[in-house]
Amino acid sequence: MRTPFIAGNWKMYKTVADAVKYVKELRGLVKDLDAVEVVLAPTFTALFAAAEAARNSNVGIAAQDLHWEREGAFTGEISGQMIREAGATYAIVGHSERRSLFGETDASVNRKVAAAFAAGLCPIACIGETLDQRERNETFDVLDRQITQGLDGLTAEQIGQLVIAYEPVWAIGTGRNATPAQASEAHGHIRSRLRQWFGQEPAELCHVIYGGSVKPENARELLSQPDVDGALVGGASLDVRSFLQIVASARRDEAL
Ligand code: PEP
Repeated sequence: MRTPFIAGNWKMYKTVADAVKYVKELRGLVKDLDAVEVVLAPTFTALFAAAEAARNSNVGIAAQDLHWEREGAFTGEISGQMIREAGATYAIVGHSERRSLFGETDASVNRKVAAAFAAGLCPIACIGETLDQRERNETFDVLDRQITQGLDGLTAEQIGQLVIAYEPVWAIGTGRNATPAQASEAHGHIRSRLRQWFGQEPAELCHVIYGGSVKPENARELLSQPDVDGALVGGASLDVRSFLQIVASARRDEAL
């Protein structure tokens, strides 16, 4: 059984002080929680302080991106080793904002996913179709391409450790979430492809989480769909109480 996985992506919000305050509050609120994996992705500048504030707690820390090289003349970039040294244990890779605004491709996603594993980070690899692609009935083709190219060369063991975030681009930051049926259909497709291409066991271990306008009001229904193993939450993760409600919705037993 996969433990539900809820990650908050803060994007370019929150100072170091904001991040530390939030993490300190959240760690207290989830201190007795072992039924949900909880992860926060602050900006690079807040990574070290957030990881220190989360030390020995149930809160994991993720970077929002990484570079694929260990070190070198790559002005402005941060390597997986540097992120790991800062105390993070996850890295988001291929977020749709990185793809659409900063030229990220399936090929760069592939290098970054491999680099994250090499640095001892668990990648949270984002995939998902645009509205145009959905309307042209290309959703499954797009997901297949993003999986085959973005995850090319990974071992079965790595697939088993991976988190895939299915984030339909039209649902990110728009307030328009996928319906539970749309999410369930896409997640079922991703799981069946993982089974077909990487084998039964890694496909069962891999977390496939949903992202796109998840909020306290829609979390429970989305998270109860088969093959939806959690959520990547943008806007609603900025407020600790609303994020906590989403975490509570992921519990399979009772509310927090
Ligand atoms: C995201 O940033 O990955 C995201 C899903 O954002 P939002 O929840 O705001 O749609």
